[in-house]
Amino acid sequence: LLRVEGVWKTYRSQPVLRGVDLDVARHEVVCLIGASGSGKSTLLRCVNVLETVDDGAIFLEDEEITDPDADPDDVRKRIGMVFQSYNLFPHMSVLDNITLAPVRVHRRKRREAEERARELLERFGLADKAGEYPDRLSGGQQQRVAIIRAMAGRPSLLLLDEVTSALDPELVTEVMGIIRELKESGMTMILATHEMGFARDIADTVCFLHDGVLLERGTAEQIFSDPAEPRTREFLSRVL
Ligand code: ATP
Ligand code: MG
Repeated sequence: LLRVEGVWKTYRSQPVLRGVDLDVARHEVVCLIGASGSGKSTLLRCVNVLETVDDGAIFLEDEEITDPDADPDDVRKRIGMVFQSYNLFPHMSVLDNITLAPVRVHRRKRREAEERARELLERFGLADKAGEYPDRLSGGQQQRVAIIRAMAGRPSLLLLDEVTSALDPELVTEVMGIIRELKESGMTMILATHEMGFARDIADTVCFLHDGVLLERGTAEQIFSDPAEPRTREFLSRVL
């Protein structure tokens, strides 16, 4: 579904991604782990064409999205992204937050978009919040709405950047629950996360980034119980 080939990204002569290769198959869940500043968010932003790459290429469904002629809006219609801070529009109801992009960007009929939104809210236990404004919701509920909003356009790939790190511990589990359910429904996802327990539990594949280099990739089992790279081992011993 997604292929990242030799991607380099430099900010002011500081290389942040150094020749990253990554393949993601349909229905696969990939967790990016690594120290703060290792380049996880930058990689996700490159995939979502929020950043241009300096070298290398990224393909989505065999189409090069890093091609300067590719339309970034078209790419973002096919990729959903959720950030640490939920970025909901405060002046809009939950329902309007979710239907905004489908109606404006995907040109869906409002009634159809609302039906889809209500269906998702129902599925993720937020049916009674459709008319509520974001500031009346808990952090966990807001983040669940942000994930639903990202799913509203039926993306083929979902990118989740530290979606639980701004939440109180008791709210983390409800957000993890929705991600687990998306995995069960076959959603292809890349998650950057500091929650090792969650990564271990949900990932098909774990990738360890170190100073912009994808040093090691393997199954969750392999990376967490028997990492090959000393630097992976050292990182895990600090965070586990
Ligand atoms: P964290 O776990 O803290 O979220 P991360 O792995 O997501 O870290 P990135 O946010 O990708 O790391 O940052 C990687 C490096 O790139 C950091 O050194 C950061 O300072 C730098 N960086 C990121 N974005 C920019 C930017 N827009 N301009 C300049 N430098 C940047
Ligand atoms: Mg980050």
